[in-house]
Order: sequence, then C-alpha cells, then structure tokens
Amino acid sequence: MDCIFCNIRAGKIPSYKVYEDDNVLAFLDITQGTKGHTLIIPKKHVKNVYELDEQTAMNIFKVVPRLAKAINKAFSPIGLNIISNNDQPLQSVFHFHIHLIPRYEDDGMELSTINNYGKFNSEYFNNLVNSIKKELEHSAI
Ligand code: AMP
Ligand code: ZN
Repeated sequence: MDCIFCNIRAGKIPSYKVYEDDNVLAFLDITQGTKGHTLIIPKKHVKNVYELDEQTAMNIFKVVPRLAKAINKAFSPIGLNIISNNDQPLQSVFHFHIHLIPRYEDDGMELSTINNYGKFNSEYFNNLVNSIKKELEHSAI
C-alpha cells in the first residue's frame, strides 16, 4: 500500500521514533513547526477518525497523556495542542494520526479557536444538539 505512515511503520521510510508498542507508533513530525511536534499513529492502517474502531482508538489515545507529559517535561512549552485533521482538505496523510504540538511564546500559531460567544440563541444550540443526537441514535461503533 502506498501510505507514508505504513511505510514508516514497516521501516521502509526512516523516522525519528520516540515511542512504540504492539499497536502504536509515535515519531517526530518532519516539519517541526514547533520544537517537539510529534505524531501518534496506529500501526494498523486506518484512513481517518470515521474509520477508527473503538479498540484502535483506545490504543492510540491511551498513550497521549504519557507522551504529552514527556514532551512537556523535555521542552517546557507554555502549553500543548492535541489536533487530528480528518478528511480532505484538512488531512494530507490518509493514515489516522494525532498531532501533539507543544506551544511556545510567539510561535506564530493561533492561540485558540474562534470565539462566537453570544452570537447564537438557545434555539440554535438545541438544533445542533438534536442534529448530533439524531445521528448518534443511528450509529453503533
Ligand atoms: P495532516 O495534515 O494532519 O494529515 O498531517 C500530516 C503530517 O505528517 C504533516 O504535519 C507532515 O509534516 C507529516 N509528515 C509527512 N511525511 C512525514 C514523514 N516522512 N515523517 C514525519 N512526518 C511526516
Ligand atoms: Zn497507512
């Protein structure tokens, strides 16, 4: 399969590995937009969160706190973002991954999401809740 992260997992493409267990691999993001930017992937090829099964999700998310703490201790950032891009055009590598992005003063990245507080009424919020709950009723993992 022509997948960069499967090739990294198989050792066909070099990477800077920081953690590995039976199900999960973590390695430095090649761009290092901030110092210590790390990716966590499942060893199993899963395209994105929409294809992620519960067990694989548990395997990956289980190691997030440990890696986050290690990065925090190693580089003393002011904070750390946990991001996962899913689907085009956000996602560029179609093997599910979590970005651990330590943040530093003046690192050039946005500090938070857009704040639309006060712009929407309760009807709008309730409609959002109903839309999501309706889909949850039809779903099973
Ligand atoms: P995304 O846009 O969320 O799909 O992110 C994919 C990430 O994979 C980007 O941040 C890339 O810098 C990173 N990346 C691509 N190729 C490699 C590689 N060979 N080794 C490490 N990171 C990579
Ligand atoms: Zn893959």
